[in-house]
Amino acid sequence: MAVLDIKKYPAPVLKKKAAAVSVFDEELQKLIEDMVETMYAAPGVGLAAPQVGVSKRLAVIDISSRDDQHPLIVLINPCVLRTAGEVEFEEGCLSIPEYTAKVKRSESLVVRAHDRNGDEVEIEADGLLAIALQHEIDHLDGFLLIDRISPIKREFFKKRYKKKKTEK
Ligand code: ZN
Repeated sequence: MAVLDIKKYPAPVLKKKAAAVSVFDEELQKLIEDMVETMYAAPGVGLAAPQVGVSKRLAVIDISSRDDQHPLIVLINPCVLRTAGEVEFEEGCLSIPEYTAKVKRSESLVVRAHDRNGDEVEIEADGLLAIALQHEIDHLDGFLLIDRISPIKREFFKKRYKKKKTEK
């Protein structure tokens, strides 16, 4: 296993819609293991393949540090079947270090996906897991949490980001 390099905003791979996974081979299993290790090392509660430069519809989520009912989830080719309610939650992202913002999400949802063996699974989630699923699925569609905030806040973020860059 290896800890992979996490791509940071504004890396182009983060803005791309990722391609479906069709082959569940050893190479994919290795990528999953490396992503899990990278997520734990960061540490983070979720990591999507585009964040390690691989434009595939794959993400790993482990919120057990905050809610121990949920073990590690390997999410492949997810699609959202149903959503309900609305919540606002302060989110962060490993690809946007030292930044958090309140994002509006569905309160609960049902997701259909493949597991690491290619078997179809359905995941019903609310609470933190629902937020994490939506955040990671966004990554697979090329959206970051800054795409989910108001245009004014986004401008503020971009200005602050530019300023930080020139200070370096
Ligand atoms: Zn993220």
